[in-house]
Amino acid sequence: MVVDFDQLAVEDLRPRFLTRSTMARKAADAAISAAKHELINMARKHGRTVHLVHPAHTTMDCGRCGARTKHALPLSERTYTCIACGAVCPRDKNSARVMLVRAGLDPAGADHGRPDRPTAGRAA
Ligand SMILES: [Zn+2]
Repeated sequence: MVVDFDQLAVEDLRPRFLTRSTMARKAADAAISAAKHELINMARKHGRTVHLVHPAHTTMDCGRCGARTKHALPLSERTYTCIACGAVCPRDKNSARVMLVRAGLDPAGADHGRPDRPTAGRAA
């Protein structure tokens, strides 16, 4: 996965399903930061850039125009429909696009009609 992309956007993720007990949370945190370090090291080795992206609202924001829906999509809803620009795409794809935009990258197909926003530190 690392070698396929020039730049990576990594969700700065703390999975909620693992946070029920303190021990599980500690283990999850350790595993996640280990994985992150590993990923960052791998990316460095290959001359890639890794962006850590805040995961909040990635399922609510439109990857095309940046509008935010008023309510999170129910998990059963697999398609994201934007009320502002009319974009329709699979929610996973939309979330991925939102993360790329937040990382300051320019995902193909999301390059117009996007409101200007401060781009998070490009570490390259
Ligand atoms: Zn939109």
